[in-house]
Amino acid sequence: MAIMPITIYGDKILRQTVKPVKAIDDEMIMIIKNMFETMRNANGIGLAGNQVNLDKSVFVIDLTPVEGYEDLPPKVFINPEIIEYSDDTVFFEEGCLSLPNLRAEVERPEAIKIKFLNTGEEEEILEADDFYARVILHEFDHLIGKMIPDRVDEFIRKKLSDELKQIKNRQVEVDYEITQK
Ligand code: ZN
Repeated sequence: MAIMPITIYGDKILRQTVKPVKAIDDEMIMIIKNMFETMRNANGIGLAGNQVNLDKSVFVIDLTPVEGYEDLPPKVFINPEIIEYSDDTVFFEEGCLSLPNLRAEVERPEAIKIKFLNTGEEEEILEADDFYARVILHEFDHLIGKMIPDRVDEFIRKKLSDELKQIKNRQVEVDYEITQK
């Protein structure tokens, strides 16, 4: 297995809608294993394909380090599609491995239903709420080129602008491997 460098705000691939996964072959399975390793090495709980420079519709989630989610099995979502959103929304502080040290309150639907393929190429439908729904929506956002600054209002975005500039210029302290500028 191998740890891959994590893309940082400013890297073009983070602004792209990634392509569907065509085949879940041995290479793809190896990439998924590497994504889990990369995420855990960076103390992350979610990681999307384009965060490791991969132009593919896949993300991984492992909430076992989070209180209350210790028993939730780590999961891979391939070619995901959100098929239902709750009308109720909640605000909660989020961070992102591609936005080191930045934190912001993001409003998201409280619950969702998501359709995706598992590594056995079977279609699964999963209902999630609360923090699990939030993490899924955050990772799904990556696959359509969206990040935290796109999900806050203009006032907050302005407040974040200096920090975003510093991140883009790699003027941040990170204890995991990131892409070169
Ligand atoms: Zn993120």
